[in-house]
Amino acid sequence: MTSVNPENLRKLYESWSDDTLREFAVYEANELVPEAKAIFDAVIEARKLDEQVGIGLSAQAEHLSEEDLIELLAVLQNQPCPSCGQKAGPLYGSVVYKHIGLIFVSVADPEFKIACSGCLNEKLGRAMITTFFLGWWAIPHGLYKTPMYLTRNWNRKQYLSRQEVHPELHHFVLGNAPMLAMHRNDPAAIQDLLRGYR
Ligand SMILES: [Zn+2]
Repeated sequence: MTSVNPENLRKLYESWSDDTLREFAVYEANELVPEAKAIFDAVIEARKLDEQVGIGLSAQAEHLSEEDLIELLAVLQNQPCPSCGQKAGPLYGSVVYKHIGLIFVSVADPEFKIACSGCLNEKLGRAMITTFFLGWWAIPHGLYKTPMYLTRNWNRKQYLSRQEVHPELHHFVLGNAPMLAMHRNDPAAIQDLLRGYR
């Protein structure tokens, strides 16, 4: 996915199964920026899943052109890595999924991270190792969350190996567009923002 226009986002959500949509609605949809949330909610409603997941429709926020978003994405990607401080290449971002099972307690820890390709790859890899060894020991969540989280991290590693921007980074740029636009020539301010996601 190279474009973030609403039509593409809608197609992405529509391509998901009911189970994936429900899962996303419960665990992740609240992290979406309003623009993406509105599209997601419309797909949920069209699929008649809205009562099951108990979410309301959010208002459509102001519209940003695709050119604006591409430019703001470039501003973000050109910053030094908030993890290693190097400027070895463009920054990427995605959710890193970690699951730790403690018999009857299931600790799901999905966190959105931004870093250079090398650092993000390492974060995804470390989360996969932790999840692989510690994820299973929760009944019953470990049995399905562990393979699900391993797969999600693996998919995000594939985006990195293709040097492709994951839709979650597009969501982030959408959500932080006013801040990125205001500070596009102020690397220190943008670095402050990025440090919250290292
Ligand atoms: Zn780095």
